[in-house]
Amino acid sequence: TARVETLEFQSEARQLLQLMIHSIYSNKDTFLRELVSNASDALDKLRLEAFRDKELRVDTDDLHIAIESDPENRTLTVRDNGIGMTRDEVVALIGTIAKSGTAEFLRKLKESQDAAGSQDLIGQFGVGFYASFMVADRVTLVTRRAGADEGVRWESEGAGTYTIEPAPDAPQGTSVTLHLKPENAEEQLHDYASRAKIVEIVRRYSDFITWPIRVPAADGGEPETVNSRKALWARSQSEVTEEEYTEFYKHVSHDWTAPLETIRIAAEGTFEYQALLFIPERAPLDLFMRERKRGVQLYVKRVFIMDDCEELMPEYLRFVKGVVDAQDLSLNVSREILQRDRQIQLMRRRLVKKVLSTVKSMMADKAEAYETFWREFGRAVKEGLLDDFENRDAILEICSFPSTHDAERQTTLAQYMERMKEGQEHIYYMTGDSRVALENSPHLEAFQSKGYEVLLLTDPIDEMWVGAVPEFDGKQLRSIAKGEVDLDTEEEKEAAKQREDEFADLLAWLRTELAETVKDVRLSARLTTSPACVVGDTYDLTPNLEKMYRAMGQ
Ligand code: ADP
Ligand code: MG
Repeated sequence: TARVETLEFQSEARQLLQLMIHSIYSNKDTFLRELVSNASDALDKLRLEAFRDKELRVDTDDLHIAIESDPENRTLTVRDNGIGMTRDEVVALIGTIAKSGTAEFLRKLKESQDAAGSQDLIGQFGVGFYASFMVADRVTLVTRRAGADEGVRWESEGAGTYTIEPAPDAPQGTSVTLHLKPENAEEQLHDYASRAKIVEIVRRYSDFITWPIRVPAADGGEPETVNSRKALWARSQSEVTEEEYTEFYKHVSHDWTAPLETIRIAAEGTFEYQALLFIPERAPLDLFMRERKRGVQLYVKRVFIMDDCEELMPEYLRFVKGVVDAQDLSLNVSREILQRDRQIQLMRRRLVKKVLSTVKSMMADKAEAYETFWREFGRAVKEGLLDDFENRDAILEICSFPSTHDAERQTTLAQYMERMKEGQEHIYYMTGDSRVALENSPHLEAFQSKGYEVLLLTDPIDEMWVGAVPEFDGKQLRSIAKGEVDLDTEEEKEAAKQREDEFADLLAWLRTELAETVKDVRLSARLTTSPACVVGDTYDLTPNLEKMYRAMGQ
C-alpha cells in the first residue's frame, strides 16, 4: 500500500558505513552519546524556532529525550520530541555526508594500513549517526518535522541502500530504533538492551545535557530522569571533573578525541557571561577550506541561540570550540545586533586574549602540548599576524619557526633573541618553498659562516605576514635575500672597499653587459663557496613572492 522507495547512500556515506559495520572503532558505547547528542541538538533547534516564529504549530510543553529498550526483541530506541526532519532532510542529512573534507578523510583512511592509525582518524572525523551501525544490524528512524502533517520512516541495514516511506502517524520529533547485533548480547559488557548499561552510559557521556533524559524505572514504572542536567559552565570549576569537560567538548565539537586544553572564563558585573572554551588536539579537516566554520556557540541564559558564532571568535582562532553563555542579551538577539553590540566586542576581546594567554602558559608548562598545538594550528594562528593588529605581539610570542639553529626543533622569537650575537641588530629570516631549498641557497652562506641564526620560513602564509610585521621586541625582522646586509667589522669594510676599487673595471663591464636583466652588480661579502647570487632590493618583493606573482600571471 505505502509508497516505499529504495535509495542508495552516497558513496562516501557507504564507505563510512562499511567501517562502522566492521566496527573499527573500539569504544562502541559512544553510539549512544551520538544519538543523545543529536536529540539534544534537535530540541535546541525546536525551542529556538518556536521562540522566533510564534505562529508555528508545535508542541514545546514537555521537551525531553526518552531511551527505551526491549530485551526480548533486542531493540533500543532513542526518542526526542524536537525539530524532526522532512523527507528531503532525511535523504540529505542521513543518506549523505555533507561534511567538507570527507573524501580527503577516506583517502587517508585507505592509506593508513594499521588499525591504530584508522582509529585515530575515525576519532578525528566523528561519525555521528552512523555510529549506530557499530552495534545494530538494522536501524529504523521515524521522524516528523515540527509543524508538518506527515512523518517519514527510514530504515537501513547499512549496506548500500535504505528505504524511505511515509509515516502518517509519526509524533513530532525523531525516534531511532536500533536492532541490536546478536553478538553484543553474549558479551555482558555490550548488552545495550540492559537498563543498567544504558543508565551507566548516559551518566558517563551525557550527564550535562540540559534536556531531561528519561529511562523507564527499573520496576517498569514511571520513567526517571537519569542525567543531572547541569550546565558545566555554570558549575564551579572545582566541581567539574576532567572527564565531564571532555564529554561536553565531544558534544559541542562533534569531535571524538579529548581536547588539548580547556579554558574557563566568568565575567560578572554589568555584562555577565560565562565561557567554556576548548582547544582541540587535532585540526579539523576543513581548517583551510572555504566552507569552514567557527566553533563557538552562543547561549543566552542557558538557552542555545546559535552555532558557529563568528562575532565571538576571530577567523584565525576558528578552531577554538565551546560555549559562551551571556546573561544580559535578549533571546531574540540576531547576528546584526551582535555585530553592533559593544558588550559583545568587549567580550570577544577578552576571549581572544584569554586564548592567546592560555597558549602562552602552555609553552611554559606543557611543552609537548604546545608543540601539538603549533603543529596543528600554527598556520591558522599566523593569519592573525595580518588580521589582528591589537594582539600582534601576543601572537608573535606564541609563534614558533624553523631555524638554522636546530634542524629538528622550531624556535620562538624570544629564544632566537637570547641566542643573538653580540651587536646583532636584526632578526634574520629567509622565505622559500622548503627547508632544503633554503639551506642550499647561496644567500645563507655568509650568515652561516659568521654564525648568525636565520629563521627558515616555508609556509605560504609566512610570505604574507613578514611584510606586515615590522619588529618583535624592538628588533626588526630582516630578509637575508634582500638588500645589503652588513655583517662586517671595520677592517672587513676597509678590505671590501679596496676590493671594490680593484674590481671596478670588471663591475662596470658586467653592469653594461647585464643591463637588461639586473639593476646593479655588486661585490658581495655574503658568499663563501658560490661564485655569484641574485638578490632583491630591500623594498622589492622577496624572490619567493615574485615567483608567486609570476605564476599568477602578474
Ligand atoms: P552531526 O550531528 O555531526 O551533524 P550526525 O551524523 O550525528 O552528524 O547527524 C547528521 C544530521 O542529521 C544532523 O546534523 C541533523 O541535522 C540530523 N539529525 C540527526 N539526528 C537527528 C534528530 N534526532 N533530530 C533531528 N535531526 C537529526
Ligand atoms: Mg551528531
